[in-house]
Amino acid sequence: MKITFYGVCGSSPSITKDLPNIKHTACVAVETDDCLIIFDAGSGIINLGNALTDVAKPILLFFSHFHYDHIIGLPYFSPLYDPNHNITIIYPDIKKIKSILPKIFDSDFFPISYSQLPKEMPVKTPDFCSNFNVSVTSYNLNHPGGCYGYRLNHHKNSLIYATDNQLDSKNITPFIDSFKDCDVLIHDCYFFNESQENLKTWGHTFLPDLVSLCFKANIHHLIPFHYKPDISKEYLSNMITYLDSHISKNKSSLRYTFPYDDLTIHL
Ligand SMILES: [Zn+2]
Ligand SMILES: [Zn+2]
Repeated sequence: MKITFYGVCGSSPSITKDLPNIKHTACVAVETDDCLIIFDAGSGIINLGNALTDVAKPILLFFSHFHYDHIIGLPYFSPLYDPNHNITIIYPDIKKIKSILPKIFDSDFFPISYSQLPKEMPVKTPDFCSNFNVSVTSYNLNHPGGCYGYRLNHHKNSLIYATDNQLDSKNITPFIDSFKDCDVLIHDCYFFNESQENLKTWGHTFLPDLVSLCFKANIHHLIPFHYKPDISKEYLSNMITYLDSHISKNKSSLRYTFPYDDLTIHL
């Protein structure tokens, strides 16, 4: 599996000046020999679409949920307008996504309606991916309005995409069980160690809770994801210091990578 990050920010594209490679909102591509899986259509999907030249490979476009930072790039995803591409939308709740997709293209928001797209995109549940040698498990995440996380198993490799999830000491146990022994965990890490109590109800995760999950679930490689848009070089460097010291203190073999736009990881 080849994993490429096209957008790693949450809420809005980054407003920071000192991290120029962290710009776009959520979009991650996972390429196998048989298909191109895309998680979310944040602003990062625009660059992904423009870089796609291989029309032969089927595209499986997953949505976690429909907050703006996960859909804002969809109308600007150029393969939607090229009928040579073969795009299937993947989401566990077919009724819900069929009602939401036309709304994104409503004439109040965008000039081209969903029904005007040159090719209809089938909508399937995650088990459709078994046609491409990928088995998928979906999880209900803890986020206002609901959100789905996904675990992909392909040959002997496993990857979880779990953005927009509020982990805390009270709800961590089921996630430890579900995420056990995963090779790569791409997980919401909107906060580091901010002390404001009100942030704990925003539906996002603080780095210490995420690290605790990784140790308990025996995650091999952590990718903290969905940064807050005002993330700075200093904030990122403090998170790295925290991770290094806790990995060392716990004698853990956990690896981690803080992602940025266009980063590719092979698994
Ligand atoms: Zn988000
Ligand atoms: Zn959200």
